[in-house]
Amino acid sequence: MKLYAVNAGHFKLDGGAMFGVVPKSLWHKANPADENNMCSWALRCMLVEHGERRILIDCGMGDKQDEKFFSHYYLHGEDSLERNLSKHGLGYEDITDVFLTHLHFDHCGGAVKRTSDGALVPAFPNAKYWTNRAHWDSATHPNAREKASFLKENILPLQEHGVLHFVDAADGEEWLPGFRIRIVNGHTDSMMLPLLTVGAKTLLYCADLLPSMHHIPLPWVMAYDMRPLQTLQEKEPILREAATNGWTLFFEHDPRIECATLVQTEKGIRVDRQLTLAEWSA
Ligand SMILES: [Zn+2]
Repeated sequence: MKLYAVNAGHFKLDGGAMFGVVPKSLWHKANPADENNMCSWALRCMLVEHGERRILIDCGMGDKQDEKFFSHYYLHGEDSLERNLSKHGLGYEDITDVFLTHLHFDHCGGAVKRTSDGALVPAFPNAKYWTNRAHWDSATHPNAREKASFLKENILPLQEHGVLHFVDAADGEEWLPGFRIRIVNGHTDSMMLPLLTVGAKTLLYCADLLPSMHHIPLPWVMAYDMRPLQTLQEKEPILREAATNGWTLFFEHDPRIECATLVQTEKGIRVDRQLTLAEWSA
């Protein structure tokens, strides 16, 4: 199994919403905001070569919504999924599986594209798309607070085209050899975190449990989470397990840092070393 970071671009979200109860005087040093209080975040996906399969974990926000939608999210920078897949000699048709940690638009928007005649079709024409039943049920019957994150046009076409599949691995179980799943419920119902083992090394794809390196200290929890106290309860044992077992963390939204290792300090678990996924793999 080989792992590669594939950045689908950068966007902006409100700094206060991203850092929850943490005051701006602290988070502003971690990720400086612009004049509208917006901070830049990555849409960092991962390409997993697993035997004959080329699995993409999450796929960014895509480009099918209208100008008004994108005016809220300020896509910027040179990175795009297409450009960064092509660096690996791959096009959308080469992806065999799209594994969706959860169905918020910034993780699955790229899964469905709009054709020139306006039809919504799977963007990766040869791929199976993976979610799980509990999350699917929640995403297709959203509460009023989460509704703006679950956009019908990102997810229903996958079902309509018959390419949607449910991962049936329970928390801690293997989906594929070396590809285990951890399930957490604080950010949203039944979000899946891939726990990937290559040789003697293990890496956790943190999705929105820890969107950036700066979300490692326990109280740094996003205001976007449906159940912030549950996130708190889920972070603590996972960070302890990661620190004890020497796992590396992979951050989907950190604007600069791809990966970090952990160390136990008297203040709690903190970053030991920052690294790229290529350095981790070498
Ligand atoms: Zn996200």
